[in-house]
Amino acid sequence: MVRRLLRRARRLLAPRTASPPDADPQPAASQSGPRIIPRSEHRISRANISEQALKVLYRLKKAGYQAFLVGGCVRDLQLGREPKDFDVATDARPEQVKELFRNCRLIGRRFRLAHVHFGRDNIIEVATFRAQHEAGEGEGVMREGRILRDNVYGDIDQDVWRRDFTINALYYDIGDFSIVDYVGGVEDLERGIIRTIGDPEVRFREDPVRMLRAVRFAVKLGFRIDPEAERQIQRLGHLLEEMPPARLFEEVQKLFLSGVALQTFEMLRHYDLFGYLFPEVEAVLAQEEEGFPHMLVIQALKNTDQRVAEGKPVTLAFLLAAFLWEALQARESELQAQGHAPMEALQLAAREVIGEQTRRVSIPRRISMFMKEVWTLQARLARRTGKRVWRTLAHPRFRAAYDFLVLRARVDDSLQELADWWTSFQAAVPEEQRRLVAALEKGDRPRRRRRRRRPAGGNGGEGAGESG
Ligand code: ATP
Ligand code: MG
Repeated sequence: MVRRLLRRARRLLAPRTASPPDADPQPAASQSGPRIIPRSEHRISRANISEQALKVLYRLKKAGYQAFLVGGCVRDLQLGREPKDFDVATDARPEQVKELFRNCRLIGRRFRLAHVHFGRDNIIEVATFRAQHEAGEGEGVMREGRILRDNVYGDIDQDVWRRDFTINALYYDIGDFSIVDYVGGVEDLERGIIRTIGDPEVRFREDPVRMLRAVRFAVKLGFRIDPEAERQIQRLGHLLEEMPPARLFEEVQKLFLSGVALQTFEMLRHYDLFGYLFPEVEAVLAQEEEGFPHMLVIQALKNTDQRVAEGKPVTLAFLLAAFLWEALQARESELQAQGHAPMEALQLAAREVIGEQTRRVSIPRRISMFMKEVWTLQARLARRTGKRVWRTLAHPRFRAAYDFLVLRARVDDSLQELADWWTSFQAAVPEEQRRLVAALEKGDRPRRRRRRRRPAGGNGGEGAGESG
């Protein structure tokens, strides 16, 4: 449905708003200075700004610096949504920010930032205004049109042009509570448009991850991407191949764990971006568009969204296990045909499939361990007799593996009976007895326990499965 809507929206809008490829890199607003929207004319109220963010803003201001909220939080507040976090922009240098706050750490090489910590999990990010590399002082490194180091400092009217989209480039001034809009961001918010600041081609070449961000914001906010930017995304997706896998991992987490994974997936595929992140998954999807593999991926995405909606914890590990399941099976069969024993074939296939994937999107060890365990347990879940059943039940990843089986059963009827069996078996075994089995199991196998990275009991609170 997303695709149909997108196509319709594009047909309606393309002729009117698409700009030529050599369009002026800065919108008209830049020539006439910023639009200042006074407190009485916008929706941002201090009551909706976190106490810690206000503290940071006021302290910077009191020390004589400029202080603004900027980016996603201004966008979300103006839309009446609850911001995920609060980012601050200032003319104070990172070292000067550090002097003002005892609880402050400077982080980042590519992009130096101050993190002001409040308690364990609450961080206010304070960024110093950036300038074009030729314009300000500090350190900036570009290679082949791409930003490698970005620490040249400047003023707000230089900072603004470097942000990705107009709706992300609004500043809320703690000095007079106004919104400062250099780029027509407020209007784009009202109209529901994701528009790059300046020429989309230049901006996407500078930082190809912005294409993923465009999709993420379009889905999250229910906005449409400006037609020229859309066109460039469809042309430039291949640039993602050159991005560092660790950075793509960060972005993939945001794409798929925000509660709108299914729609995001659809839109990434619509713009031909998905295949650059997950080539093996794309290959499988292309082969059997209407069949079983596609459905498992879809089910896993739906399941993740549902868990987010219910406030349950989610992990990318579960989703990735589902994404790569089909590729794993194919590889496993090949290896078995070559004469490898089943268990060995599975281990080898898992290593290869994960290894191949990490060339695009890195997979931290805790996640790949989880995936391998869930995959291996699928074979053990198929056996329902003897002592092994108890061992399987006592396995620290039992819950996630069972959830995975339930997911598979949703798209493969022949597994339903097995999944039901495990559902009833679990229900029949009291919690106390299960703990006992787990304890015995541990006593049985001291060596395996030492190798395990997580203690037994549950899946570390990060199952993204059916009912964990
Ligand atoms: P979210 O709701 O996901 O936090 P956000 O807009 O706050 O969305 P962040 O990644 O937190 O996104 O970045 C904060 C701000 O920094 C953005 O709003 C944007 O102005 C700027 N920014 C972030 N990443 C880029 C980028 N790759 N290129 C240009 N500007 C960026
Ligand atoms: Mg943010």
